[in-house]
Amino acid sequence: MSRSPDFCPHCGEELDSVVVRCPNCRTDLGRRTDGDSSKSAGLAALLSLLITGVGHLYLGAVARGAGWFVGGIGLAVILGLTIPELSPLSFLVPVAAAVDAYTLAS
Ligand SMILES: [Zn+2]
Repeated sequence: MSRSPDFCPHCGEELDSVVVRCPNCRTDLGRRTDGDSSKSAGLAALLSLLITGVGHLYLGAVARGAGWFVGGIGLAVILGLTIPELSPLSFLVPVAAAVDAYTLAS
């Protein structure tokens, strides 16, 4: 698939054809990932819930998924080492990642 580059109608930023929102000014471009790249928001959320960040990988947001993955593990390790009583809170990270993945896909 080679699609010609698009430009943001708001700021003129050159856009990757798969983005739904301008990375520069955050304008919603009013388009969705569909057709051959149809992704389920629910599945993305479920994947990120099971393994933090994997839902983002599924959506093609590799850097964001890696950030969630590393950040989630980092938080769990830091909490585990410093305040073990709070380490159960690290389960909130995959929940937040799932919400983020769902938002990203919607
Ligand atoms: Zn823009």
